[in-house]
Amino acid sequence: MAVRDILIIPDKRLRLKSEPVKAVDKSLRKLVDDMFETMYAAPGIGLAAIQIGVPQRVVVMDIAKKDDPREQQVFINPEVTWVSPENATAEEGCLSIPEYYEAVERPQAVKVKFLDLDGKPKEIEASGLLATCLQHEIDHINGVLFIDHISKLKRDMVMKKFKKVAKKTEGGKSLAQDDEPSHHIG
Ligand SMILES: [Zn+2]
Repeated sequence: MAVRDILIIPDKRLRLKSEPVKAVDKSLRKLVDDMFETMYAAPGIGLAAIQIGVPQRVVVMDIAKKDDPREQQVFINPEVTWVSPENATAEEGCLSIPEYYEAVERPQAVKVKFLDLDGKPKEIEASGLLATCLQHEIDHINGVLFIDHISKLKRDMVMKKFKKVAKKTEGGKSLAQDDEPSHHIG
């Protein structure tokens, strides 16, 4: 297992549409292991493979509370099959946009179908934090970021700030070293 570098905006790879996973095999399990290790180290509660530069439709998540036992969840080729008519607003953050948080409105509940680590098809219905996190991560594998859901004015301000940082630090790595316990979603 290895902690990998997390891509930070304005890295263009974050805008790629990830490819479906063709086989749930040993190399995929290795990728998932690295994703969990990277996510826990960050720390975050969710991570999409593209955030470590792998354009595959893979998402890992652990939304257990800090002192509770780990609850690792893996979603391969996840797809939203239903959204609730009601929306909910929650504050989101992202490991690829460190230290920036903003309220985002999304459907309050969703149904998602996916493959598990055995390659078996599954479907779950989620609400609350799990629903927020799933939508945030599925956005990632479609090249969408949570700042796409806020006002253009705010988004432009964030992009400008990170472009400046990226210029200064060549990739913006310094900002990724974020040791403050936070609510980065992933
Ligand atoms: Zn994110």
